[in-house]
Amino acid sequence: MTTELLSYEDALASYDPVMGLEVHVELGTKTKMFCGCSTELKQDANSQTCPTCLGLPGALPVVNEIGVESAIKIGLALHCEIAEWCRFARKNYFYPDMPKNFQTSQYDEPIAFNGYLDVQLEDGEVFRVEIERAHMEEDTGKSTHVGGATGRIHGASHSLLDYNRAGIPLIEIVTKPIEGAGERAPEVAKAYVAELREVIKALGVSEARMDKGQMRCDVNLSLRPHGREEFGTRSETKNVNSLRSVERAARFEIQRHAAVLKDGGTIVQETRHFHEEDGSTTSGRIKDNAEDYRYFPEPDLVPVAPAREWVEELRAGLPEMPRVRRNRLREEWGVSEHDMQSILNAGAVDSIVATIEAGAPSDQARKWWMGELARNANETGRSLEELDITPAQVARVCELVAAGDLNDKLARQVIEGVLKGEGTPDEVVEKRGLKVVSDEGALSTAVDEAIAANAGIVAKIQSGKVAAAGALVGAVMKATRGQADAARVKELILEKLGVEG
Ligand code: ADP
Ligand code: MG
Ligand code: ZN
Repeated sequence: MTTELLSYEDALASYDPVMGLEVHVELGTKTKMFCGCSTELKQDANSQTCPTCLGLPGALPVVNEIGVESAIKIGLALHCEIAEWCRFARKNYFYPDMPKNFQTSQYDEPIAFNGYLDVQLEDGEVFRVEIERAHMEEDTGKSTHVGGATGRIHGASHSLLDYNRAGIPLIEIVTKPIEGAGERAPEVAKAYVAELREVIKALGVSEARMDKGQMRCDVNLSLRPHGREEFGTRSETKNVNSLRSVERAARFEIQRHAAVLKDGGTIVQETRHFHEEDGSTTSGRIKDNAEDYRYFPEPDLVPVAPAREWVEELRAGLPEMPRVRRNRLREEWGVSEHDMQSILNAGAVDSIVATIEAGAPSDQARKWWMGELARNANETGRSLEELDITPAQVARVCELVAAGDLNDKLARQVIEGVLKGEGTPDEVVEKRGLKVVSDEGALSTAVDEAIAANAGIVAKIQSGKVAAAGALVGAVMKATRGQADAARVKELILEKLGVEG
C-alpha cells in the first residue's frame, strides 16, 4: 500500500504545520523509580524485578530521590516553574508489558511546567520552542513477539515478557504546540531534539542515546489552511529514535496530511509507526482520550513537595547551557555556524573539547573526530565515546605529528591501530614500526638510490621539468614504506640534482 503524498512545496503553499513533540528520556539512575531494583539491562530476562515493579498485590512503591532531583534539574534547565507540591497519578490501561495495569505517571500536577528551549537553526537563527510540562513516570517492560514474520504481535505464535525495564524512571517533556515554523518545521523538530539531548547530557542525568532507546520522540503534527487560527486534527508518530528520523517523520506527515486534506478528506487522530527504510509512517491505533485512562492520584505515594532551598541549590549548580557553551567554543575555534552544527549533530563537541584540554590544537582535534573517527564510529554503529580511543590518545597522535615523528598518513595508521586494540599510540608506533624517517643519513641514501634507478626521470627534472620530481619522491616514499617526510625528500632531490625548486 502506498500512501498518497503531496509535494512538500505544494503542501506548504496551502497549509501551516503545527507540531507537538513529546520526548521520553530514560534517566541514568542506579535503581528504578519506585523500588530498589537495578536499572542494569544487560541481565537475564526478569532478573532485575521485585514485587513492586512486577505489580504484585500489596507491594508498596517508594520514590527515588535522584529521579526527582533529575526531573527538577531538567525543568530548571528548560526555564520551567517547579511545582511546590505535586502528585503522581495512575494512568490506567491494560497491556501485558505493564503488570500493574496502570502506569505510575503524572497528569494534571507535573513537577515542571511552562518553560522554553531556544534552538539554533542551520542558518544561525534562534527559534524558541515553548515547553508545556516535564513530568515523571516509569518505563514499561519489553515484549518480544515470536513466530511472526515482522516481529510485531500480528502473526506471532507467542510473546515473551521481560520486566527488567519496567519501573525505570522516565521524564516526559512535552512542548506546547509549535506554530510559525512554516517550511522549517521538520528542521525545528530535529534541532529541538538535538538541543534537548545536549541539555540532558550536560546535566548528567542520562546519556540520552537515541540509538539505545534512552531518548525517544513522539512527533505530533497537524495542518491548517493559511490564515486559520484553529488547529487541525493531529497524528502522533510514536517512538522515533534518531534525529534524522524526527525530521523525516515530520516531513512525511506534512505531505501525507496535505494530500488527504487537498482531496477533501479528514485526518483521523491516531498514532502512527515510523519506518526507517523509506521514511514513511503507517497507521497504528486510534488514540485514546485522556478520559479513557481514568487518571486518579496515586494513593500509595506521598506528594512530592521539593523545598525551595533545594530547588535554588539545584538551580545554582546548573552547568553552562550547551548553546551558550557552543557559541563560546565556536568563537574560540573560529568555525562557522554550519560547521558547529555538524559537530553537534555528530555528537563530537565533548570529545573535541577533551582532546584540546589534553593538549591538541583545536583544528587537529576537530579534524580527527569529524573525519577518521566519525567515519569509524559510523561504520561500527557506535558513538564517538564508545570508540576504543580516548581524547588523550588522539592528543598524543597530534603531538607526534607536530613533533615531525608522524606524517598524516602514518598518523592515520596509528589511529587505526589504537582503534583495533593494538595499544596506546606510542605502542602502535613501536609495534608497527611507524616513524617518519628523519635520520638524514638514511633519507639521503634512499634519495641517492632513487636517483640512480630512475635515469629517465632525472633527465627530465634536469631539463627543467621540476614537477617530474614527484615521481622520485614517490619512489623514495615507497622505499621507506611511507615513513619519509615527503617535503624534505623533495628538497633533498632538488638539492642533489642542483635544480632550483
Ligand atoms: P497525548 O497524551 O494525547 O499525546 P499530550 O498533550 O501529552 O497528548 O501531547 C500532545 C502534543 O501535541 C503536545 O506537544 C501538544 O502541544 C501537541 N498538540 C496538541 N494539539 C495539537 C494539534 N492539533 N496539532 C499539533 N500538535 C498538537
Ligand atoms: Mg502522546
Ligand atoms: Zn523492582
